[in-house]
Amino acid sequence: LWITLEGGDGSGKTTQAALLEAWLSAQGRTVLRTREPGGSEVGALIRDIVLHHRGDIAPRAEALLYAADRAHHVATVVRPALERGDVVLQDRYLDSSVAYQGAGRVLDADEVRDLSLWGAEGALPDLTVLLDLDPAAARRRLDAADKPFDRLEAEREEFHGRVRAAYLSLADAEPDRFLVLDADDAPERIAEAVRARVEPLLHP
Ligand code: C5P
Ligand code: MG
Repeated sequence: LWITLEGGDGSGKTTQAALLEAWLSAQGRTVLRTREPGGSEVGALIRDIVLHHRGDIAPRAEALLYAADRAHHVATVVRPALERGDVVLQDRYLDSSVAYQGAGRVLDADEVRDLSLWGAEGALPDLTVLLDLDPAAARRRLDAADKPFDRLEAEREEFHGRVRAAYLSLADAEPDRFLVLDADDAPERIAEAVRARVEPLLHP
């Protein structure tokens, strides 16, 4: 079982991943928590480039770096875990690229998606939880958290508005894969909705 979490920065993906992991473990499942970019050793190097390089990265080069991180991550971390029977709980996957490199950087959404799918040999998660949050609310949360900004978290609000719209249209296009939740709800309520959707997937 492969579950990915998506949403803008500050939407609560990490909180929800932790709550879901605790619940799955209590059900006796072995859980692999991972993330993109940076879910493998090679990926950690790529993450450092895409998040911490000072200065511009050409949009297509950035898209290729994320796709390379993803290809290696799926091949060396995700697939082996799924083959072992683990539940893979993953912060961000190719929908992030469609939203950020596609809509955010104004590359063609289908091309960005196809690039990632090629890299990942077509692998798609069983469930993608989209934590939908208005960019202004996300900004307030990140400010309140008082942590240093990554290169992209500091992007202007208009960029994050495009990212949000792209996510919502992805969810519209694949309603069977997506669960869209209001990230402004209380964390425990969101977690409950996630568990309700995951439960039947545990006993197929
Ligand atoms: O998910 P996480 O907070 O670790 O992501 C770090 C940064 O990378 C975020 O600011 C996010 O906006 C950006 N990102 C991106 N494209 C991706 C994945 C993440 O621009 N495909
Ligand atoms: Mg983050």
